[in-house]
Amino acid sequence: MSYLLTFIENHLSKIILAFALVTIACSEEEDDLKSVDPDPDEALYYLPVVVHVLHQGEPVGEGPNLSTERIQRQIEILNEDFRRKEGTRGFNNHPDGGDTKIEFVLAKQDPNGQPTSGIVRTNISLFDVPVLGYSQNNYAQYSYWNSTQYINIWTTPLDESISCLVLGLSTGPETDLPGTHLLAIPEPNDAEGIIIPWMHFGESTIDCHARFGRTLTHEMGHYLGLLHPWAGLDCEFNDYCDDTPAVDDFVWGRTPFVGCAGDMIMIGNYMNYSDDEIMNIFTNDQISRMHYVLDHHAGRHALVSSPGLK
Ligand SMILES: [Zn+2]
Repeated sequence: MSYLLTFIENHLSKIILAFALVTIACSEEEDDLKSVDPDPDEALYYLPVVVHVLHQGEPVGEGPNLSTERIQRQIEILNEDFRRKEGTRGFNNHPDGGDTKIEFVLAKQDPNGQPTSGIVRTNISLFDVPVLGYSQNNYAQYSYWNSTQYINIWTTPLDESISCLVLGLSTGPETDLPGTHLLAIPEPNDAEGIIIPWMHFGESTIDCHARFGRTLTHEMGHYLGLLHPWAGLDCEFNDYCDDTPAVDDFVWGRTPFVGCAGDMIMIGNYMNYSDDEIMNIFTNDQISRMHYVLDHHAGRHALVSSPGLK
């Protein structure tokens, strides 16, 4: 089953749903932002997100029309993971693991300057639009906010029968970081954002390894420039992060194995396809790579001063 998932994230969207999967990259850039700032809170990056809940007329809290509580808990999980919060599933004490200093905030102001919960519910059965596959462009037809001011997340009303078969997708940022060509870089007029089938958004009791909200953590890593640790399936050119043990094969499940250099791979890394239950690490090099993107990619950098945060 897990191999099937791997196959699907890499191929199904291309072959069946006619859309390419995301791959990404990690860098060796060093970021001295934190070291020069005496107040660690000053170095936090706050990023506004909008969750577009796409449903088919179900009442709020039923099926794809996810409850507000579940959405808020998902954002909380995202922050537990990115901030490596003690007492949560996102904590680790690995010597290469770190606090990303990145926090996500449900938007407080919408594109018209009006107060918002950061949650937009849309009944897509009322629309008559072309089917553009499992893609950002498809879901943006229903609801989309300016990607330089908000991180767009769509929860999609895919059928429950494909739980665990189709997980998330993310567009990537175009920068001069090595491995950027492996990301899903949007064309100039393409929509940017993250797609998560509703079953995998937040916590649930579904019978699947992806039920603790880590699909969003993984996809947000892609959105901020991270690659899978195996990236191009090459021991020499993988994720461009020195502190993620090199591996040239997909990593899934919960059992570590020996990687390229004879050391054990990092099974708990968020950028694997590992079980949600055991994921808990972004490494310092991965964090540096995300900071580089936030400092150098115009669209991502603009997020930190978005009116959506106020
Ligand atoms: Zn991925």
